[in-house]
Amino acid sequence: MMHVKPIGALEDNYMYLVTDKKTGKAAVVDPVDVDKALEAAKSECVDLVAALITHHHWDHAGGTKKLAEVMGANFPIYGFDDGRIEALNNPSTDQLNFKVGGLDVTSLHTPCHTTGHICYYVRDENQKAVFTGDTLFIAGCGRFFEGSADDMNHALNVVLSALPDETKVYCGHEYTVSNLLFAKSVESGNQDIDAKLKWAKERSAEKKPTVPSTIGEEKRFNPFMRVSKPSVLEPLKVDDPVKAMKKLREMKNSFKASI
Ligand SMILES: [Zn+2]
Repeated sequence: MMHVKPIGALEDNYMYLVTDKKTGKAAVVDPVDVDKALEAAKSECVDLVAALITHHHWDHAGGTKKLAEVMGANFPIYGFDDGRIEALNNPSTDQLNFKVGGLDVTSLHTPCHTTGHICYYVRDENQKAVFTGDTLFIAGCGRFFEGSADDMNHALNVVLSALPDETKVYCGHEYTVSNLLFAKSVESGNQDIDAKLKWAKERSAEKKPTVPSTIGEEKRFNPFMRVSKPSVLEPLKVDDPVKAMKKLREMKNSFKASI
């Protein structure tokens, strides 16, 4: 049985502890705050067996050197090997399969936010989860620092959208309320956006995380995963998904959410 614990870090980052309850073995995702991650592993009484790094940005990969010092150089640290993640010893390519206890993990290469971005698809016989770093956020997506609209369209609408609808989405930052306010500004008649926004505002007021969503939910309210829908294309005045992706990202970059 899979169990996922979100752990807040820095201002609005998420680290995760993903545990196979049967064996007690766990992996930590993006452990930027090593002390806090190890404390969580201790209080959950799990045996930490790997770290999964989504991309090289400091707020995700900044803890790897310390982690290797604490856990030993043989402790498996997964990520894309382009020389930008310290202490990396398990290079993740696209469709690399490995185990965390009894959990099956597949790494999915989703370049755009960075050229080496990896999402991790984790499942057991009953549950499915994907750790999406700064590629897919709830109701949004990461900036295109090292890729194009075409790349992000491929990542979101070919790679991630192919996962089963019930797959839970655990992203790298808590940006949900502002993302939904942007989504609403694009597609004002979409009631799934209104319902999720109301819920997300309540969660945020209680200082509770809004993760996870699911791939099926994202397809209903995330404008970046709805770029082939007439209700998104029409207000953007474009006729194809990649142009819509480019325009949405430009609009989001200058969008000021009034909460
Ligand atoms: Zn990033």
